[in-house]
Amino acid sequence: MNAYAQNVLESLQKNCSHQKEFMQSVSEVLGSLSKLLDRQSKYEKYCILERLVMPERIIIFQVPWIDDRGKIQINTGFRIQFNSAIGPYKGGLRFHPSVNLSILKFLGFEQIFKNSLTTLPMGGAKGGSDFDPKGKSEREVLAFCQNFMRELYRHIGTSIDVPAGDIGVGSREIGYLYGQYKRIVNSCDSVLTGKGVNWGGSKIRPEATGYGCVYFAQEMLKTRNMDMEGKKVLISGSGNVAQYAAQKAFMLGAKVLSLSDSNGSVIDPDGIDEEKFAYVQELKNVRRGRIAEYVKKFPRATYYENCRPWQLTSCDIALPCATQNELDLRDAEFLAKNNCIAVCEGANMPTTLEATAFLQANNILFAPGKASNAGGVATSGLEMSQNAIRLNWESDEVDSKLRTIMVKIHESARETAAEFGEPDNYVMGANIAGFRKVADAMIDLGV
Ligand code: NDP
Repeated sequence: MNAYAQNVLESLQKNCSHQKEFMQSVSEVLGSLSKLLDRQSKYEKYCILERLVMPERIIIFQVPWIDDRGKIQINTGFRIQFNSAIGPYKGGLRFHPSVNLSILKFLGFEQIFKNSLTTLPMGGAKGGSDFDPKGKSEREVLAFCQNFMRELYRHIGTSIDVPAGDIGVGSREIGYLYGQYKRIVNSCDSVLTGKGVNWGGSKIRPEATGYGCVYFAQEMLKTRNMDMEGKKVLISGSGNVAQYAAQKAFMLGAKVLSLSDSNGSVIDPDGIDEEKFAYVQELKNVRRGRIAEYVKKFPRATYYENCRPWQLTSCDIALPCATQNELDLRDAEFLAKNNCIAVCEGANMPTTLEATAFLQANNILFAPGKASNAGGVATSGLEMSQNAIRLNWESDEVDSKLRTIMVKIHESARETAAEFGEPDNYVMGANIAGFRKVADAMIDLGV
């Protein structure tokens, strides 16, 4: 690793060694900037790395709310405003019991580079709470969202910080959050994205991350003169990203063999089609049930409790779309042994560092989430543009813009990696391309 990057990493380690996920993402990014830092001394002169690894602002607040038994519950709310060099802070809100500073700092840090790659002017941020919407009544979710926004509203704004959804924050939660914001501020500012199409949202935003991930995979396959047709695809998760990655993959002729949730995985040897997709949407988005139920409806499928999909059957393409560190070295070894061609991350950092290194060393195309799942935030950027001009674009128009953005991100990651002699190294390409724009803006803006 470049000596400057190494020094910054070591001093960060002294303060943040307990923040495992954050240190993992910083190590990956700084490690892959080495070749650029060897060539350019200006980043060290302006202390860019030291400034980049420290959030500009961290907001932590209490969220008291009343449950259905009339008892007061208290959760912690967070907003990490990481870097605003190229535009207003932008990044999702995650509601999940595992949420802590380490997870949100890693997500906010990744978001800086992802947003930069989209070509749109958006800074990096992330937020959320350790509140778990699972198993809560509608009224409890509403109460929590309203009380979360009661504090968050003072820190966000169209030109300041524009949050969106993430794990546990879908269209229902965005609706409750936005409704409360409007009540408090008396304004229809475009202060959240992922809104419903009837109240300021963009068409294709729900589909965007999953679709974008598959568009990225298509571009990777093209570099080996292949396409999605007939490819066997394993997908983890069954939430927003997983659902639409599955839909786009089967629309392009691939055979989608799996979905999962935090309890287990389903393998369907016949593949998931439009009818099964509609069932999954109703199961997960309306009834909020478990993926295990899938096999009752489609008995040729098998459910594997407490298993991730990667070693349950062979595949050509793996799309991890659930959560961080869900594909490890042993999974990577299994994928390689069974001739997997590409791993394209729909989730944020789902692949461990060891698994990533193994995949790359074994000539498996590997796309880091900050490039391959950037379609979600890119379409959020398009939602902000539509709100600003007070127009709604049709689905085809948004989808075509999304596709163009994904092609450009792929091109930019690949060309940047080629500039440093490793065209297949999407991790290096995405990190350097994302970093350069932000770092140069930080220099331009002065201290
Ligand atoms: P959802 O909440 O809609 O779905 C998450 C899915 O992952 C669910 O199936 C959930 O299962 C599963 N999951 C969550 N935690 C775990 C865990 N610890 N182990 C196994 N499975 C788990 O979230 P999204 O689909 O929106 O997000 C998925 C990933 O994509 C996240 O990494 C997110 O940061 C990333 N992402 C999302 C974007 C978006 O636009 N939504 C944009 C870019 C990245 P269960 O229901 O059992 O919890």
